Amino acid sequence: MTEHAENAAAFVANGERLQWHDKAVWFMRNKRDVARAAVPEWEALRALASQIKAHTISRLAGYLEQFEKNALAAGAQVHWARDAEEHNQIVHGLLEKHEVTRLVKSKSMLTEECHLNPYLEARGIEVVDTDLGERIVQFRKEPPSHIVMPAIHLKKEEIGVLFHEKLGTPEGLADPKALTEAARQHLREKFLAAQAGLTGVNFAIASTGGIVVCTNEGNADLGTSLSPLHIACMGVEKLVPGPQELAVFLRLLARSATGQPITTYTSHFHGPRPGTELHIVIVDHGRSKMLAREEYRSSLKCIRCGACMNTCPVYRHSGGHSYGVTVPGPIGSVLAPHIDPKKHASLPFASSLCGSCTDVCPVKIDLHHQLLAWRGELAAKGLVPLGKRVVSRVGGWVLARTWAYRFFGKLTRLFAPLLPSALLGPWGRQRDLPKMPRESFRAQWRKRAGPR
Ligand code: SF4
Repeated sequence: MTEHAENAAAFVANGERLQWHDKAVWFMRNKRDVARAAVPEWEALRALASQIKAHTISRLAGYLEQFEKNALAAGAQVHWARDAEEHNQIVHGLLEKHEVTRLVKSKSMLTEECHLNPYLEARGIEVVDTDLGERIVQFRKEPPSHIVMPAIHLKKEEIGVLFHEKLGTPEGLADPKALTEAARQHLREKFLAAQAGLTGVNFAIASTGGIVVCTNEGNADLGTSLSPLHIACMGVEKLVPGPQELAVFLRLLARSATGQPITTYTSHFHGPRPGTELHIVIVDHGRSKMLAREEYRSSLKCIRCGACMNTCPVYRHSGGHSYGVTVPGPIGSVLAPHIDPKKHASLPFASSLCGSCTDVCPVKIDLHHQLLAWRGELAAKGLVPLGKRVVSRVGGWVLARTWAYRFFGKLTRLFAPLLPSALLGPWGRQRDLPKMPRESFRAQWRKRAGPR
């Protein structure tokens, strides 16, 4: 089995969790559909967002320089990092210079990607993730399983047990309100004691030099307003040309992510507050490589809304941890092979290629086409297991010949219902296999059409 399939098998083995995870994630997909239906110009917005991103990444160097110039003019300090190692060194250098030993952090997928927490902890700095979901997975010493809902793989009862152990809540407490209140009290102490606040960046505005951070808990605002040092880490692709373009993305982001019209807090930082410092760390970490590859370039348009995960049948049925990367799901399976094609060769195959991810993506990234392109490229590089290559060849041969398609189709209709469920493995056992009709499609069609 490939790496993703092996990890997924462990997740799928717990049928109850699988069904529950599927429902929880699909619930978010439904909320997105309702929010989308309330905006008649949705498709025009998506097209516009896609065009703005295409324009921005086609002139990325110019926009980055413009952003730096304006951010400096607003009083921020700008740092450039080629890769994760450089990013971590810069952040650590800033904390060291300010003698910081306690840092509060709001959600930042980039810092997860760079493994910043273990880097800082190894150097004696206490790092506290202040997003509730992030704090839960931090307590469990595991990575987030979803980019918007990091602890979506956990039930409230499991969180109750965790909080009892870590925060001393009463044994058996599983009421989400009470658990959230316990986390709030715990985090309040951490906010008050912090010497620096670190945030991610959802959008960076080239024409003003400002950055925008979207959260639902207000933790980014609390973390940055209570301490004298704010470090904001962003990938080079976070740029938008100006405030007008920003408005397009703000309308799409929260609706696509959670079905909300807008995130509860959309915080704008234009330079530091008086008496404090704002440092913006701009990180490449493989993004320039993607920019240079035309067939995958559009993946840089991603605004990390998570909608492609919520709709993906493979993500919903295998869980975020099965991907083994910071960003799971369809977009993660496109991004990861850029970093290490050999290690992540199984990910582009973790897709049914149904195209649902492409349909929901607010910036119109052709995700399923990119996954297919990766499959071809990885096979050409000899990174696909022999069994998968043989099956693909045989499948291609059958699909190219009508008689073979009909013949094997009949065989499948005859024998699939007779397969004992034990042969299907954990994945197949939890599925309702369709009852295969024994009549040919032509006979069924004639019956339905009635006498002529
Ligand atoms: S690829 Fe599209 S749908 Fe997926 S996270 Fe990025 S913006 Fe959202």
